[in-house]
Amino acid sequence: MSKHREIGGKPLRPESLMMSYGYDPRLSEGAVKCPIFQTSTFAFESAEAGKAFFEVAYGLREQRRGEKMGLIYSRLNNPDLEILEGRLALWDDAESCSVFESGMAAITTSLLAYLTPGDVLVHSEPLYGGCDHFVKHFLPRLGVIPIGFPAGVPMADLAAELTAKIAGRPVAAALLETPANPTNALVDIQGLSDLVHSLAAPGRPAVVMVDNTFLGPLWQHPLQHGADLVLYSATKFIGGHSDVIAGAASGSAEVMLPIRTLRTFMGTMSGPWTGWLLLRSLETLKMRMTAAMKNARYVADFLADHPKVPQVHYLGHLAEGTPMFDLYHRQCVGPGSMISFDVQGDQAGAFRFLNALTMVKLAVSLGGTESLAQHPGSMTHADIPPADQARMGITAGMVRLSVGVEHYEDLIADLTQALEAV
Ligand SMILES: *Cc1c(COP(=O)(O)O)cnc(C)c1O
Repeated sequence: MSKHREIGGKPLRPESLMMSYGYDPRLSEGAVKCPIFQTSTFAFESAEAGKAFFEVAYGLREQRRGEKMGLIYSRLNNPDLEILEGRLALWDDAESCSVFESGMAAITTSLLAYLTPGDVLVHSEPLYGGCDHFVKHFLPRLGVIPIGFPAGVPMADLAAELTAKIAGRPVAAALLETPANPTNALVDIQGLSDLVHSLAAPGRPAVVMVDNTFLGPLWQHPLQHGADLVLYSATKFIGGHSDVIAGAASGSAEVMLPIRTLRTFMGTMSGPWTGWLLLRSLETLKMRMTAAMKNARYVADFLADHPKVPQVHYLGHLAEGTPMFDLYHRQCVGPGSMISFDVQGDQAGAFRFLNALTMVKLAVSLGGTESLAQHPGSMTHADIPPADQARMGITAGMVRLSVGVEHYEDLIADLTQALEAV
């Protein structure tokens, strides 16, 4: 395996390693690109080798120094997944990564690996609709107590109230989503991590998980700010072409072990085709995310000046001197390419706008090469009762825009004519 990470003592950047890291062409007839290993199972060289692989895979003993772990069965490991996991971990400088067949599979497997009846799960609000449903409607059936707090509130105004709500019960995990979907409100990862770690049961550390789908893996690195686990819907920026559903979780080997083990038993790993598609996507990840972020600034500036757009939520427009501006500069590397904005005329105005778009497609999902727009109140967040939507800042006229890699002047032309229809 080619796992060189430096040349002449200088560390190589992740974007340089995406074409080579972890893949040895000599093992695949010299193929420059990693083939799709479309196989369910792998032949052992001997019965002794098969026995040794299972001892390590089932945790019957530790892997010996220098011992090479072989391939067993594609629910446990597969070359496309192993190479992908090695490459994905580089972006977050994580020790270990596991990939899943969806973002929801990554998030639910991670939560279930750490939660037991009676545990408190602290979570930010709003959460992605699927996560909101799992946390509030499924986990309580297992006896888990979800305790939410609003994104966008500085730690100084949050800590005492949240601690009182937890009321001394053991906190086993936290699920933070920042920036929040669709409002772009921020959560202080370091502040929440410190608080949640201090409220864990003795001898059982709490695991702080951050859904980094909106900014990662380029523009935010939660593991550097006190989090234990970073989660992705790889369907979004990592996949980047709106043609695959996938997820990922990265962290230390110790934090990842129970998650990887549960993945084996629940069968939530991704297949080799998904792995191969994501390997391909990773080669252009930085270019795509950088191009989309540059476009988003032009689009956000245009929207902020438009008379039919009363409000724009964009990380690049946070007002200097506010607590969220300071937090953004501590925690984020760039503003990304997600913009939410209010269209005048509430839902009817937003719908007139969405129906008039010609190049930007009316669809949920985000992070693809093409720009997508949708109405959170009636689409991605329809499951959340109207009063809760209002509390979370999801307004009737709100449109969420995922800016793609088209020419920004063409995007602005489409938005201009669609706003004329409002
Ligand atoms: C899309 C998304 C998910 C769910 O991921 P899937 O790949 O659709 O299962 C979770 N969190 C966020 C923030 C998302 O945008």
